[in-house]
Amino acid sequence: MKGELIYLPAEVRCDLLMDNYYRELMQEKLPAGLYRHSLGVAEAAVSLAGRFGADQKKAYLAGIVHDFGKCYSKSELRSKAEELDLQLDRITLLEPRLLHAPVGAALLQLELGIEDGDILRAVALHTTGHSDMNLLDKIIYLADCIEDGRRYPGVDRIRDLARRDLDGAVLAAVERTIYAVLRRGMLLHPQSVSLRNSLLEKQAGDQSARL
Ligand code: FE
Ligand code: FE
Repeated sequence: MKGELIYLPAEVRCDLLMDNYYRELMQEKLPAGLYRHSLGVAEAAVSLAGRFGADQKKAYLAGIVHDFGKCYSKSELRSKAEELDLQLDRITLLEPRLLHAPVGAALLQLELGIEDGDILRAVALHTTGHSDMNLLDKIIYLADCIEDGRRYPGVDRIRDLARRDLDGAVLAAVERTIYAVLRRGMLLHPQSVSLRNSLLEKQAGDQSARL
């Protein structure tokens, strides 16, 4: 199969080689389960990008590397954030589940040379979400919640929504995350609340425009 690559246009060949490079790197650096999750997110992201008209190459790469920050421990992430002088809010600094996203994005640029701002932004926002997410941000956020390996009550409903209504699926995903955070007594990031409110406001606006 490898020999077939030479018949592809140089640009496509280069993309495939870069994808393989990052995929193998993640396989080496991440525990097996997390690597499988990353592959699942990349596949889900490519399919969402195809459905909703985003760049599939960026979706794949962002999916593969989105959990790069998880290569590091909580204390390593905190000291990297300090070294790099990342301006992170208190809740992100206190909650390791959130910290791996913005620090991971900074490290992707610094250590792996990924310069694409769309990819870095989607990675940085994949845990909290944001009230002003673009198409790729939403795709990575959602792919992380619905990739094939995810098993939790309600996931099939979100997967179903993701087949036809991107914002509706993101809304269901952020609401499910908020429920889970409250149930576990964890810190809730205000950006997740803003994301939910902005989607609800948009939904209400769309409905009144239709009347
Ligand atoms: Fe993550
Ligand atoms: Fe993830």
